[in-house]
Amino acid sequence: MIKEILEKQYLEKDDIKSLLLTEGDEMKLLLDKALAVKLSKLDNYIHLRGLIELSNICRKSCLYCGVRSGNKLVERYSLTDDEVIECAKLAYELGYGSVAIQSGERNDKAFTDRITLLIKRIKEIGDGALGITLSLGEQTAEVYREWFEAGAHRYLLRIEASNENLYYKIHPNDSTHDFKKRLDCIDTLLSIGYQTGTGVMIGLPFQTVDDLADDLIFFRKKDVAMVGMGPFIPHPDTPLYQYADEIPSVEDRMNLTLKMIAVLRLMMPEINMVAATATQTVDPLGREKAVLAGANVIMPNLTPNKYREDYLIYPDKACVGDKPEQCSSCLDLRMKSIKHEILYNAWGDSKAFVKK
Ligand code: SAH
Repeated sequence: MIKEILEKQYLEKDDIKSLLLTEGDEMKLLLDKALAVKLSKLDNYIHLRGLIELSNICRKSCLYCGVRSGNKLVERYSLTDDEVIECAKLAYELGYGSVAIQSGERNDKAFTDRITLLIKRIKEIGDGALGITLSLGEQTAEVYREWFEAGAHRYLLRIEASNENLYYKIHPNDSTHDFKKRLDCIDTLLSIGYQTGTGVMIGLPFQTVDDLADDLIFFRKKDVAMVGMGPFIPHPDTPLYQYADEIPSVEDRMNLTLKMIAVLRLMMPEINMVAATATQTVDPLGREKAVLAGANVIMPNLTPNKYREDYLIYPDKACVGDKPEQCSSCLDLRMKSIKHEILYNAWGDSKAFVKK
C-alpha cells in the first residue's frame, strides 16, 4: 500500500495523510524514497545561509513565540549596523555564500529604511557575492519592493498554520495577527519576484494530520520556492505552554517533521527545504536526519554570541554558545558524515525557482 503510494506521480490528500501516518519500516521506505528523489534532482549539495538575528524587538504577540511582545522577561536588543556588517563579512569569509536576516517584527519607517541601507551595504561585500534572504515578517508591498530593489532576493514568511481556525488558536485574534493579511503578504512576495519561502510548525496544540496534509497542499498550490518546517517547542514564558503536556512527544514531533519534509520532497522535488535549527534542538542529530529526509539548506547562526540568549523564540536552542568558526567546521564534518557536501561561495538558489 505505502509502496504503491510512493510510486505515484501526484499525491492526493489521502495519499499524503497515509504517508504522514507511516511508522517503522514504512516510514523508512518514505524517507529513503525522499532522499533518492532529492539526490537525483539536487545532488548531495547543502546550501548555507548565515543567520543574523537582527533584533528581538517585536510588535506582535504570537502565542508560541518566546520573543513575543507580551513576554516581559526578555531583554530587548538590536544589533548595530556595524555588527550586522561584521556578521555578513564573516559569512563571506567563511564561504557561506548567503546571509539570512531575521528579526522580531517592526514596520516603522526608521526600521524599514535601515534595512534598505543594510541590504545595500551587504551587497557591497565582495562585490555582490552574498545572496540575501529576509525574514522580517509582514510588511507593505512598497516595503517588500524597496528591499527587493535594494538587493534582497529571497524572503521567508511562514504561514505557521494554513488552517485559519488553527491560525487563530496560536495567534491573538486581533488586527496585528490577521490570517488574510499573512496570506496576502505571501502572494505579494511571490508577485514581486522574490524566491518566496513559507512553512509551518509541527506538533502544535490542536493540530491534526488533516491540517498537516493541507499545509503541504498549500505549499504546492502556492508553488513556493522554499519551505521551512520544524517541530513546535513550547516556551515556558508563552501562552501556548499551557498545552505542553497535550502535544505529541518530542520523538513524535521529530518523526512527524521528518515525514513532512519527506512527503514534501516527493511533491516538490526541486524546492529548497531547510533542516531547521529546531530539529537539532529536539534531537542532537536532528539536522542530519532532516537532510536525510530531503532537506538541502542549513542556517548556521552568525549572531554575536552576547545576543543569542535573548533571541530564544523557543527554549534550549541548539548551538547558542558556539563561535561561528567552530560552527562552520562542525557542520562540514556533520554533512560529510552523511555523505553530503556543502556548496561554498554560492547563493544556492532554489532550482524550482530558477527553472521558472
Ligand atoms: N518575525 C519573523 C520571524 C519569526 S521567527 C516572522 O514573523 O516571520 C521564525 C520562525 O520561528 C517562525 O516563523 C516560527 O515558525 C518559528 N517559531 C517561533 N516560535 C517557535 C516555537 N516555540 N517552536 C518552534 N518554532 C517556533
